[in-house]
Amino acid sequence: MHELVGALRSYAWGSRTALAQLCGRPVPSAHPEAELWFGAHPADPARVQINGHSESLLELVSADPQRELGPVAGEFGGRLPFLLKILAAEEPLSLQAHPSIEQARAGYARENHAGVALDAPMRNYRDENHKPELVVALNRFEALAGFREPRRTVRLLTALDVPELTPYAELLAAQPDSAGLRTLFTTWIALPQHALANLLPKVLDGCVRYLSERDAGYDGTPKEFTAEVRTALELAEAYPGDAGVLAALLLNRITLEPGQGLFLAAGNLHAYLSGVGVEIMANSDNVLRGGLTPKHVDVPELLRVLDFEPLELPIIEAEQTGPGIYRYDTPAPEFALSRIELAADADPVPLHAGPGIALCTHGNVRLLQGKHELIVECGSAAWISAADGPIRAAAADGPAQLFCATAGAD
Ligand SMILES: [Zn+2]
Repeated sequence: MHELVGALRSYAWGSRTALAQLCGRPVPSAHPEAELWFGAHPADPARVQINGHSESLLELVSADPQRELGPVAGEFGGRLPFLLKILAAEEPLSLQAHPSIEQARAGYARENHAGVALDAPMRNYRDENHKPELVVALNRFEALAGFREPRRTVRLLTALDVPELTPYAELLAAQPDSAGLRTLFTTWIALPQHALANLLPKVLDGCVRYLSERDAGYDGTPKEFTAEVRTALELAEAYPGDAGVLAALLLNRITLEPGQGLFLAAGNLHAYLSGVGVEIMANSDNVLRGGLTPKHVDVPELLRVLDFEPLELPIIEAEQTGPGIYRYDTPAPEFALSRIELAADADPVPLHAGPGIALCTHGNVRLLQGKHELIVECGSAAWISAADGPIRAAAADGPAQLFCATAGAD
């Protein structure tokens, strides 16, 4: 096992305080800090500290996949199959979905054939992989994910009391299923500019009215769609005139409490809104965007990959599998994630065998391997290779929290 230093990614939607605070650096940071990557992704691999020198995890794994990854090497082409991140969103991220593995393979080949450069801004498929992802909240984490049950969406559209919305509400009421959602989403996302410029302000007026009527209410309880409506207004402020604001009205508005997870399978339309979380995904960069972004948006391709099946409640509660050990169950073969709550002065907890990454997100953790000991500070991690023997973890001082990422399900 070796210390692993994450690669800091600066994006406009990041936070100037969250990651710096977590890592014990001065705040505010010079740039908005969005993500801290712990993985072997070619775009920004983490650095392994070995005997006083620093080496890229990508190079370490590529040099000897058998030693570092063990049996996992054969299964995933000699590459670490997952990317682990800490993500800090101050502003909403784009509305997006990820392809299935079949769609990614076909799309990648299609764009190669068409001669679109791998780094071209309009390139949709940068690799041949799918990108299932799981985010676990470190603090309150807000997101839009998956299509809401259509009858509830009809109630929301009706509650906004905007005459121009009536035909759309009626359309969905007549077909309250995935086909109705597909028709409505496709209509809205492809509205001609003048129609959008007419509809959107009226919808936003309806949103303002809905919220102010709540203030005029007497029993003090928030109305059913307060969070949904407020989010639409916030998105409209950040992305004026964007059809993604309408699309957002069709999605589940989700709040994750610390420790809760959200799993996004292929085709699930989603947008992270705010919060700090640990995210793990298959090692891929394939994103189809549907709006709420200045980046490339390819609506026809997005429509091809979207899953319009309504999603009940995509929140994942971790299952306790040992003292202080909580496991997030997902169908993804590329990764498994556990959270370990380490009490001060408690006995060391055995960790899952490598290959894997142990990431400290609270306090400091002591990792023990035979007589060897490694202190992992908050915001830092350890690389555990397949060749490493059994490793145990304990709180170094005061309570600590550790996320353990391994490849694939057992
Ligand atoms: Zn995503």
